[in-house]
Amino acid sequence: MEIPFLDLRAQNAALKKEILPQWEEILESAGFIGGKYVDLFEEKFAAACEVDHCVAVNSGTDALRFIMTALGLRPGDEVITAPNTFAATAEAIQQAGGTTVFADIDSKTYNIDPELITKAITKKTVGIVPIHLYGQPAAMDEINKIAEEHGLWVIEDACQAHLAEYQGKKAGSLGRAAAFSFYPGKNLGACGDAGAVTTSDGELASQVRSLRDHGQGRKYYHDLVGYNGRCDALQAAALIVKLRYLADWNEQRRAIAKQYFSMLVDANLVLPEISPGCLSAFHLFVVQVENRDNVMKLLSEKGVQVGLHYPVSLHMQKAYKFLGYKKGDLPVSEGVSERLMSLPMFPDLTPKQIEYVGACLKDIVGGVNV
Ligand SMILES: *Cc1c(COP(=O)(O)O)cnc(C)c1O
Repeated sequence: MEIPFLDLRAQNAALKKEILPQWEEILESAGFIGGKYVDLFEEKFAAACEVDHCVAVNSGTDALRFIMTALGLRPGDEVITAPNTFAATAEAIQQAGGTTVFADIDSKTYNIDPELITKAITKKTVGIVPIHLYGQPAAMDEINKIAEEHGLWVIEDACQAHLAEYQGKKAGSLGRAAAFSFYPGKNLGACGDAGAVTTSDGELASQVRSLRDHGQGRKYYHDLVGYNGRCDALQAAALIVKLRYLADWNEQRRAIAKQYFSMLVDANLVLPEISPGCLSAFHLFVVQVENRDNVMKLLSEKGVQVGLHYPVSLHMQKAYKFLGYKKGDLPVSEGVSERLMSLPMFPDLTPKQIEYVGACLKDIVGGVNV
């Protein structure tokens, strides 16, 4: 059996009939930028995330960058985030004019460790960017409490956590603002690049709205030094269709996770842990294994493809050397980056395919009752 890590073709084929008529209308009207589809998507996504405002932009990276630019980062301002994330989180901090400070993660949830945030706070700290990694919300109550005590803002990197929940509240509504990515492989994916900012702060939303469109309040009147960071109509129209299915797709992801959990409970590997009060969107299903290269090679020989998220902790990446971290500074993140492996995870996976992945993996790593 050949099991890809991610395959969106079945999903796209099923949605083609619903997306194409709207794309045709957009082609005929030539209304590619802005317009009713962008407005409608923003309205629907804000409602889905239970916030007052959504501003659609062209990527999750720009969503993060525009929020922090709008918050007025100044050179020297420190922003605390986790090192085991996609590079975009740190890129956005740097490009918005701040300095990235990494706090290590909790070894069970892989999310930023609130105690270590406290230790990383200095006089220069202005904000915290927790990532809801793999779809599980970070410890937002603790993080928001720390932020309040120190007068810091909190921005959620919710790029992997569409409709995830924390204590009954939606990801995207848990901090001052949140960034979402609709990169095709995300739980809600566009047919190209797109992203969004969610917030209930009206002032911040209008700043981001201006930043995404060259800082214009009205055409050719520029109030801010902005960017070309809009979400286009074709993407918005596709996202409106896909948003209708998102809750079901997330349920399917959770069902896949459940099957992995029950199959792998006795295997020689570390399963993910979901904290009480968290409803994960299971963007990824990660396990820790020893001798990962070998496990991956044996899985690949059986037709099972896996992913690595992420093979190198950001503080050990060439691009972030200038921050001055060295090996051993963030031991939890460094350790898991050598052992974590992401199993196939997308809504169209069948129980048979999951069973095959689980059986192959158990065969390879061994364990009790295997
Ligand atoms: C995907 C992702 C981003 C960036 O989103 P893009 O739309 O690709 O720019 C940022 N942070 C995390 C955690 C992500 O997974």
